[in-house]
Formats: sequence, C-alpha cells, structure tokens
Amino acid sequence: MGHLTGDKVLTEIAARLKSEIRSEDTLARLGGDEFTIIMQDINHGEEASFLAEKITKVASQPVDIDEQSLYVTTSIGISLYPDDGDNSEDLLMYADNAMYKAKEEGRNNYQFYSSEMTTLALSKVIMESSMRNALEKEEFRIYYQPQINGLTNQVIGMEALVRWEHPTIGLISPDKFIPLAEETGLIVEIDKWVMKTAMKQVSQWYEQGLYPGILALNLTMKLLERKDFSDIIKSLLEETQINTKWLEFEVTESQIMKNPENAISKLLEIGKMDINIAIDDFGTGYSSLSHLKQLPIDKLKLDRSFISDIPDDEDDMSITIAIISLAKNLNINVLAEGVETQEQKDFLIENGCIDIQGYLYSKPIPTDEMQKYLLRQNNTSSYV
Ligand code: C2E
Ligand code: CA
Ligand code: CA
Repeated sequence: MGHLTGDKVLTEIAARLKSEIRSEDTLARLGGDEFTIIMQDINHGEEASFLAEKITKVASQPVDIDEQSLYVTTSIGISLYPDDGDNSEDLLMYADNAMYKAKEEGRNNYQFYSSEMTTLALSKVIMESSMRNALEKEEFRIYYQPQINGLTNQVIGMEALVRWEHPTIGLISPDKFIPLAEETGLIVEIDKWVMKTAMKQVSQWYEQGLYPGILALNLTMKLLERKDFSDIIKSLLEETQINTKWLEFEVTESQIMKNPENAISKLLEIGKMDINIAIDDFGTGYSSLSHLKQLPIDKLKLDRSFISDIPDDEDDMSITIAIISLAKNLNINVLAEGVETQEQKDFLIENGCIDIQGYLYSKPIPTDEMQKYLLRQNNTSSYV
C-alpha cells in the first residue's frame, strides 16, 4: 500500500503503544516494524506479560487510514534483567530471539526468553548463514532411535533424527534449528540430505544381513508441498536402491491439519509409491475423524506428552487407551513414543499398544552405535 500508508500505520501503532506504557518506561522504534520497550523497575516478569497482553489488544484494533480498515498482528519477545542478561546488548538480542519464537507460534502472542529456548547466542541472521554452510561443510549428523516390539523386544524399525554438529557450539538438537530452517525453506535441503543418507545406510545394513526394519523419516509439509516432490522421492529411491516397503514417512498431525485437503492429496501420492505413512505427535493436532478416515495412513504415533504422565495422570491414560482403540478400529498400527519406564511400557502393552519407542530401550544413537545395536540383536536372535 506504499510507504505513506506504512508510515501512517507505524505512527498510529506508536501512539497506541505510548498510551499503554508508564511514564518511566522507554519506547523506541529500532527499525522497520520493530519497536522496543524498556520497562524500568519491575518486580516480576508477569508485569511484562500484562503489558504484552495490553499491547496485543490495542494493536489488534483496526487502523483506519483513508477510509480503509487495516489490521496488524504483533509478536512480542521479552527478556528480563538480570535473569537473561546483564547488559543491554544481550537483553536486546534475547528479546529478539523470543520475538522470533512468538512469530513462529502464529503471531499475536508473546514469549519470554528462557535459557532453554535457545542456547545459541547467535542472532537469526548469523544462524541462517551458518546453517547454509553446515550443509556444504557436512556438519549435519543422523542419529537413529530403535523402535521395538515390546512383546519380543525385537527391533521393528528406527527413526532417523537429525542433529547439527556445530564446530564451536557442539551438538545442536533439531528443536533449536528446525523452526528457523522451516521459515527459511532450508528444511527442504536438510530433509533431502537426511533422506538420502539414511536410506543409503539402511540399504547397506540390509545388504550386510542385519535387520534394521522400517526406516522412519520426518518430513516437513514444506517438502511435500513442492511440485517436484514425487520426482525427488523417485530419484532418491533409484539412487539409494532402498525397497519402499522399508520406508515410512512421518508427518505431524498439526502440519496435516493446517491444510487437510492438500495434505490428503499429497499423502495419497506417497501411498501410491508404496511408502508407509505415519502420523506423528498424534493426539495434539485436533484431527477430525472425517479427515482421519480419508488419510491413507499406516500408523499413529502416540505423542510423548500422553505417555510421560503415565501412571499419574488419569486423563492422559484415558486418552492413550482411546487413541489405541481408535487405531484398532481404523485398522492402523499404533506406536507409543517417549516411553521411559517399565511401568509405562506395561500399561501400553496391557492396552494393546505393542510397538514402543523411547529411552527405555534406547536414546537416539549415532550410526556406528546403531550398527552395534543391530549386530547384538542379530546375535541374540540366533540364540532364541
Ligand atoms: P519427533 O519426530 O517427535 O521425534 C521424537 C523426539 O523425541 C526426538 O527428539 C527424540 O530424541 C525424543 N525422544 C525419543 N524418546 C524419548 C524419551 O523416551 N523421552 C524423551 N524425553 N524424549 C524422547 P529430537 O531428536 O530432539 O527431535 C525433535 C524433533 O525435531 C522431532 O520430533 C522432529 O519433529 C524434528 N526432527 C528431527 N529430525 C528431523 C528431520 O530430519 N527432519 C525434520 N523435518 N524434522 C526433524
Ligand atoms: Ca517423528
Ligand atoms: Ca513425535
């Protein structure tokens, strides 16, 4: 709508922000569409969240310019002195990080910076460029986590989970870089690399006479949505010579439900290639039963959040039982993830969920350890 309208929106929003802050606070516009507020002498972080809520509310009112009503959204990041940092540079950087998290959560919300949110004291820009380099420099690694039949304790498959071995920071978990990779689109390249590397590896294990079972790969909807998605997969299948029967693509329920119609058609394409499909993090994404019935799925992966509170949370236990019976009724497999204790495993088996993935059996492990795991397994089965 042009610079002039943009300026008018900024002026109006600035006026609204100013009306919400106290006289001792500082309001600044550091650039573009980013404002910064310094709140002096607060006693609790909550005071910052009260202000954040007020700002979200006033900013969401329409901005009327030249007889048009314009709508803006806000994403707010909050850092606290001295918990998060003791100098202005760090505090600004952390607030910026938290704001980025807020954007990711779907805007119109606020997030605090907390130490676990990002251990990377890297700005988004630095992180993005070093992630691009990481592909070239081969800094990504694949860890494998076994999936086990809880009755026989045999490996039925494994999930490939990416990590970033950063030369100075060390091993970085996917939660820390995948959101940014999704935003920048780099996830497509990362996922392609993960698929190719893991497929080659699993093919090789089969050739060596080991039994790795099914290879489960996490795929972002971003990749599925690409027009050349089928071609990408077909050329990977050719290059790695993996049998599609050994492959399973995991897509999260929440990503599917963002655009179910589109997801259904994409998943049907995968189904046609004879590749298994699992819905990841099931139970958290509010699927409708009618959509579920249309999806060509082979497996539901029960989300860890339900498993972790067994046996203390009655609700989670009821939901777990309900999802298991839902899967049975739809005639699809169910696997529980994040199983850490014998008690959780016993509960799941008692209720009909046999396939288990979690720290109880193994954490995700690097390739060489996975190979040893499979060798051990081969040896024990020959005794059985
Ligand atoms: P996810 O697909 O739900 O993967 C399971 C996560 O749970 C993994 O975290 C795994 O290490 C963790 N986990 C497994 N068992 C247990 C347990 O018993 N207890 C606890 N506390 N955790 C357990 P990780 O490896 O950090 O991966 C996080 C997420 O990053 C994954 O969640 C997945 O959504 C995403 N991701 C990982 N690799 C890739 C990839 O190659 N491509 C894409 N697009 N996403 C990936
Ligand atoms: Ca997964
Ligand atoms: Ca999962």
